[in-house]
Amino acid sequence: MTNTPTQRMKLAVLTSGGDSAGMNAVVRAVVKAGILKGCETWVVREGYEGLVRGNIEGGRAEKVSLPPHQPVNIKDESFLHNLRFGDGELLRDGTSDLPSGRSLKGRYIVRVGWDDVRGWFGVGGTLIGTARSVAFRTPEGRLTAAFNLIKEGIDALCVCGGDGSLTGADVFRAEWPSLVKQLLQQGKITEEQAKTYAHLKIVGLVGSIDNDMSMTDMTIGAPTALHRICESIDNIESTAASHSRAFVVEVMGRHCGWLALMAGVSSGADFIFIPERPPKADSWADEMCEMIQKHRAMGKRKTIVIVAEGAQDKDLKPIRADDIKDVLSDKLGLDTRVTTLGHTQRGGRPCAYDRIMPTLQGVEAVDALLEATPDTPSYMIGIQENKITRVPLVDAVAMTHSVAKAIGEKDFEKAMSLRDPEFIEALEGFNATSQIASEPRLPHHARMRIAIMHVGAPAGGMNAATRTAVRYCIRQGHKPFAVHNGFVGLLDDNVHEMTWLGVDSWMTRGGSELGTNRKLPDIDLGSVASKFQQWNFHALLMIGGFEAFSSLFILDQARKNYPAFNIPIVHLPATLSNNVPLTEFSLGSDTSLNALVDACDAIKQSASASRNRVFIVETQGGKCGYLATMGALAASKLRMIDITGACIVYTPEIGINLDKLRDDVKYLKKRYAMDVKGKSEGRLVLKSEEASTVYSNKTITDIFKEEGGKLFDSRSASLGHTLQGGIPSPLDRARAVRLALKCMAFIEEKHSILLKQSQKPRHAGPDMAAVITIQGSSVQWVPAQEMLASADLVNRRGLNEPWKKMTHLVEALVARPQILGER
Ligand code: ATP
Repeated sequence: MTNTPTQRMKLAVLTSGGDSAGMNAVVRAVVKAGILKGCETWVVREGYEGLVRGNIEGGRAEKVSLPPHQPVNIKDESFLHNLRFGDGELLRDGTSDLPSGRSLKGRYIVRVGWDDVRGWFGVGGTLIGTARSVAFRTPEGRLTAAFNLIKEGIDALCVCGGDGSLTGADVFRAEWPSLVKQLLQQGKITEEQAKTYAHLKIVGLVGSIDNDMSMTDMTIGAPTALHRICESIDNIESTAASHSRAFVVEVMGRHCGWLALMAGVSSGADFIFIPERPPKADSWADEMCEMIQKHRAMGKRKTIVIVAEGAQDKDLKPIRADDIKDVLSDKLGLDTRVTTLGHTQRGGRPCAYDRIMPTLQGVEAVDALLEATPDTPSYMIGIQENKITRVPLVDAVAMTHSVAKAIGEKDFEKAMSLRDPEFIEALEGFNATSQIASEPRLPHHARMRIAIMHVGAPAGGMNAATRTAVRYCIRQGHKPFAVHNGFVGLLDDNVHEMTWLGVDSWMTRGGSELGTNRKLPDIDLGSVASKFQQWNFHALLMIGGFEAFSSLFILDQARKNYPAFNIPIVHLPATLSNNVPLTEFSLGSDTSLNALVDACDAIKQSASASRNRVFIVETQGGKCGYLATMGALAASKLRMIDITGACIVYTPEIGINLDKLRDDVKYLKKRYAMDVKGKSEGRLVLKSEEASTVYSNKTITDIFKEEGGKLFDSRSASLGHTLQGGIPSPLDRARAVRLALKCMAFIEEKHSILLKQSQKPRHAGPDMAAVITIQGSSVQWVPAQEMLASADLVNRRGLNEPWKKMTHLVEALVARPQILGER
């Protein structure tokens, strides 16, 4: 289907297969982005089953004639009315009658408007329903589905589901020309319709808790499922340690071990069973028992084994949780319990990642559909590291199937190679932190004394990264040294050698177990250098924020005067502000975003009590607006009485002035005036603590209160240190493991280069003082000196950070430009 300039694209979105957190965020983003880009937006209820059932005669969606191919003009009240198809209540009640008097009975393909999807992205599952459709698997079912789409004039389809659903989408796409031909031959559609709908525009978004789709790092809903699993395991751990028990935890994943693997990595489990990599030994029981015995011999009081529901041995014989329990009880004499997490893993409230990423992916999906031509492939929207990607749907489906095929053929190496690199690195991370080598892996001359230090403010994931580095060191034969309290602690000789067991429970601990300090090494460079010499450090790993970056730069510059600094020095960014230049991700920022989302969800209670309140919520972040901006994309929406995803964001980068405040008041007044009478909602403003020295939270709250008159009231909340979060999020823990391992590999590589130098003292080049960064789709090492070009040293943040674009998206998703009449 190719739209002529006078046709608006009619875009329908459906959710299919097992539900997952984040599906609602996709639907919301697709509908909103679709409307903003001039499309007519529809939803298909109950997945493919809804496509097959279609709309029975007499129950069709209300038709509203809209000017063709016009950008949205929310200024126009009548247009806004047209957008509000269900008064914001549509679809919430399944098939029951709507307050507006319209009924959804017999209607599966439903026109929706802006306010229909209001408040959706904080809700788990899928509000438009999902199903596993037997009918759609048949050619007849797909023929009916094609007819129903053409009948409603829909020319673009966005499918959010797992690998099965996207396989279905791929089949539908491939068959489409023959389906249109059959419909024409049967006289169900006209020649003109056959011509107009000759090509199906289709895009896939991967909504699945299993993270089982190839060619994307992450599927929508998988991070939330991982949150639920880790919460359960964190709770089990205390009882396991108290009674010195073993727990076998069964998690979902019939064909994909991602959840089991990441839960194993994030919780510091003792052993995992995943379908892609069965134990190599002839007896999985012996391999597991040997490992667990070693852990117990080290002094561990608790044992956690995680098993994916599809786990199997190398002969494809299933390994069940009860089998594992019997082995642990009988062979090791451990008091063992089984916990099957079952459907609790499906989600509930989406975590921050499952609000932000599906929103960005939904927007990208609409762009992909608008840009589609008969010659372009149908895309699947994925994620690589921090980048939203488009990959050909047909390739992603084929690669996903080849993983299952490889497992079926017992070609486990191939199965692993077909998983994304993060999966493989996570497995290496798990092995490095759980396995105890009988002999160090490196020869004597390659072994190092490695200092590990936390610099700056505490952040979630610092301890997980330290635990990983310590365990890796011990496995390799290095000696890891904790430097407590940063450079101040070093000067006080507050240093001790770390042990394997000493860091055992650090995975789940928030804050900084080492103690951290903001002081830079230039408090006394000479003494710092002499301590490096005294302790004979061969490398330094600094985990921290902007101060760690500054320290790295200072030490690099000081090498010419102090030979003790001629060693590999690395900085692993960890700060909730995410203000380290160049990197799009710092450890701790995901934990903080989740703390922010939780806080906003709690604020909703006040909003339910008094609907038309504007909450001005102040976040931490220093002179960097990352947390406020990304929080605005993720912040809570309520189900019945909504707080919007934040409608206004104040950041230090943009600042606050009178003109902006005047516009903001104007926006709020217009928006509240548009609300349906009696259904006004709470709205959220997110403000970085240092957005302005003049316009404080109180001042802005007072201005809004005064200006809001009868339309709205205002209140303020300051989240302060609560945003450091308690227990680090699973994503922060998993990334801590992965990045810390890369840091250790970097240190070993650079050390081996130094060892080859004949001159004394050895000379460390500028590349030996570097920061590990995530930039777009790749992990990159950037030398300290190169970082400088991207750093704003005065304001302690990066220049040109990609997240700044999100400010516009926040405004777009609340139609601010349209409401203010700027467009
Ligand atoms: P989850 O990962 O949660 O299991 P999924 O999308 O993989 O989600 P499935 O039950 O495998 O879930 O697929 C969902 C629906 O997609 C099926 O009920 C069916 O309607 C459709 N579908 C799956 N495979 C095909 C196929 N080969 N041809 C046509 N339709 C298919």
